Amino acid sequence: EEFELHYQPKVRLADASMIGMEALLRWRHPERGLVAPNEFVPALEDTGLIVAVGDWVVREACRQLQHWARAGLTPVPIAVNLSARQFERGDLYATIARHLAEHGVSPGMVELEVTESCLMSDPEDAVRQLERLRAAGLRISVDDFGTGYSSLAYLTRLPLSALKIDRGFVNAAISEPQSAAIVKMVIDMAMRLHFDVVAEGIETPEHVGFLREHGCEVGQGYLFGRPVPAAEIARRLRR
Ligand code: C2E
Ligand code: MG
Ligand code: MG
Repeated sequence: EEFELHYQPKVRLADASMIGMEALLRWRHPERGLVAPNEFVPALEDTGLIVAVGDWVVREACRQLQHWARAGLTPVPIAVNLSARQFERGDLYATIARHLAEHGVSPGMVELEVTESCLMSDPEDAVRQLERLRAAGLRISVDDFGTGYSSLAYLTRLPLSALKIDRGFVNAAISEPQSAAIVKMVIDMAMRLHFDVVAEGIETPEHVGFLREHGCEVGQGYLFGRPVPAAEIARRLRR
């Protein structure tokens, strides 16, 4: 019970209104304090514990949505990050469907963020699982797009709702023509494929200006809000 979820707003760039949030795992260690996922998620993945913890993440997000709804707030969809190991078990659909039902959460309120690594061990099976989740009404987005192996072929096979442009490209877009070109290309490609596009790691008004100029209307980043505990993000939800 030392894990907790923090939430980072996803906003419409035009007016900074919060249209969603991403749940990010934190470990509140008794001596070390708050530990970031990069320091412990790899170990959870190596040991397979990520399956149980990832399951808890979905359940906790559903519990939080139910709690906010009961408190009279208007919740926004929550995105959760999935790990490759969660696909290997094959029961992702069943466990997610159970958490949604138990908390009375509609599937459209939960978005699943996957990376290309989720598809690597058994791509056909992962596509089948994602199709089932999509058919049930969950949104699926590709995280850290542009990093990793970046096969474009899977973009035609996956039932995707959105691409999230990796924050490395967004951050460098102002100073590096190469990164700027990649950001523009991803925005253009997402639009042509009818996916939403979300920019990660927005830190300055210049980033916002660049993204909007090229047609990206949704993003996340420290400029709009860092990941914070549930009680803090709740202040941004409307009654
Ligand atoms: P991610 O899913 O790509 O999440 C975005 C990361 O970028 C988060 O780091 C967030 O705090 C950080 N970030 C957001 N805006 C900015 C910004 O403007 N500037 C900078 N420099 N960073 C920004 P965090 O929370 O440390 O998470 C790191 C990664 O750990 C996540 O990357 C995700 O891959 C993984 N992770 C987090 N929670 C979970 C989880 O529940 N399950 C799994 N499997 N992985 C998780
Ligand atoms: Mg993510
Ligand atoms: Mg990312």
